[in-house]
Amino acid sequence: MGNPETFYKEALAWLEANCPQSQRTPASREELVYGGNKCVFPSDDAKTWLELMAARGWTVPTWPKEYGGAGLSSEEAGLLQKAMRKLGCRSPLIGHGLWMLGPALLEYGTREQKLQHLPGIARGEIRWCQGYSEPGAGSDLASLRCRCEDKGDHFLVNGQKSWTTDGNHADWIFVLVRTDFDNPAKQAGISFLLIDLESAGVEVKPCTLLDGNEDFCDTFFDNVVVPRENLVGDINEGWAIAKSLLVHERTMMSQIQEYIPRLPHSVVEYARNYVGLDENGQLADDALRGQLTSHLMNAHAMQLAQQRAFEERRAGVLDKRSTLYFKAWATEEDQRKDELLLAMLGSAALGWEGDGFSDDELQVTRQFLTNKALTIGGGTTEVQLNLMARALGLPGREV
Ligand SMILES: Cc1cc2nc3c(=O)[nH]c(=O)nc-3n(C[C@H](O)[C@H](O)[C@H](O)COP(=O)(O)OP(=O)(O)OC[C@H]3O[C@@H](n4cnc5c(N)ncnc54)[C@H](O)[C@@H]3O)c2cc1C
Repeated sequence: MGNPETFYKEALAWLEANCPQSQRTPASREELVYGGNKCVFPSDDAKTWLELMAARGWTVPTWPKEYGGAGLSSEEAGLLQKAMRKLGCRSPLIGHGLWMLGPALLEYGTREQKLQHLPGIARGEIRWCQGYSEPGAGSDLASLRCRCEDKGDHFLVNGQKSWTTDGNHADWIFVLVRTDFDNPAKQAGISFLLIDLESAGVEVKPCTLLDGNEDFCDTFFDNVVVPRENLVGDINEGWAIAKSLLVHERTMMSQIQEYIPRLPHSVVEYARNYVGLDENGQLADDALRGQLTSHLMNAHAMQLAQQRAFEERRAGVLDKRSTLYFKAWATEEDQRKDELLLAMLGSAALGWEGDGFSDDELQVTRQFLTNKALTIGGGTTEVQLNLMARALGLPGREV
């Protein structure tokens, strides 16, 4: 790369000149942009911001230019992120395509598959969802039974996927299917397929979540014909791709606070407003003060650990197994923060809707409920701990 300081200054100047003012504040849930054919932009500014960033390749800055990226080094991408944070710029685009499928395709896809799918992801034209879990195959993912028969020039898929986040908003789904039913090693008979959700025989049924959202679906496949060129990697060799993609998913989950809507105030501001200060200017409740201090120290430690991981990745020495720990620890800490906020707000955090509660208070309650899922989605904490134990050579069961 050229001079990092010059790159940073130029990036900052470009962002300053191009990022609409309305895109420089934390986004609410309704303002997040996932793209895709069904996308309804929350504002003209959000659309313009995405188009400008995509045209520069900055929605996926490290991807090669021919696939919609900007070909930046990870150091440059880090500087770009720093410049965006400085100005408070929103992510112009988020979603499964950017976070998970794109990186997996870059590693395992053919050139044709990359050219077909990556630019559409980078420009926010196609929205993807993930079809891994099934009834009876969540933590024990390799037990999946979604049936895929090889018919020569195409595959025939029958079965069900569950917990498909955003299945009702997505255009395409990446799925793990069983292509070998006789091999006793269950990981051996799995393949990785890309399926257009508009294909005949696909049905997506939304379910309502604890926080009231309906972005979570069951996805059914009934004799769905999938062209052979939609197979990523070799037949029966999908498990390696599945695991690699999970590394990207854990990375995203450990940084989830970067992407999901932020509360309008910091935890310290909530503490001041709802608990109050004593005559010494300290938080009036000793126990909550202790919990707040622990949370702030943990959050700072996590930030430093992630910075170290970023530097290790840049130097090519990152042990990818560390994503297990980041995912488990960051999501558990997010939930501890939610519990703390609830304790600080007291009865003000008991609202679901209505005039008796401010928007800020309702957001705290909804976030508490939403974040319950963080330690389940992307693999439960127990499973991350099991995998960590294995990585450390401790005795344990296969998971
Ligand atoms: C909000 C959310 C979004 C999701 N989005 C998607 C998605 O888009 N696509 C997708 O494919 N999946 C998705 N999932 C599914 C998610 O990956 C699974 O829920 C998760 O892997 C757990 O599987 P399960 O729900 O079947 O629970 P189970 O595997 O049945 O686990 C039940 C409990 O048993 C524990 N347990 C299981 N096995 C072990 C073990 N060996 N050792 C110790 N404890 C164990 C678990 O920790 C858990 O507490 C999502 C889940 C959530 C909550």
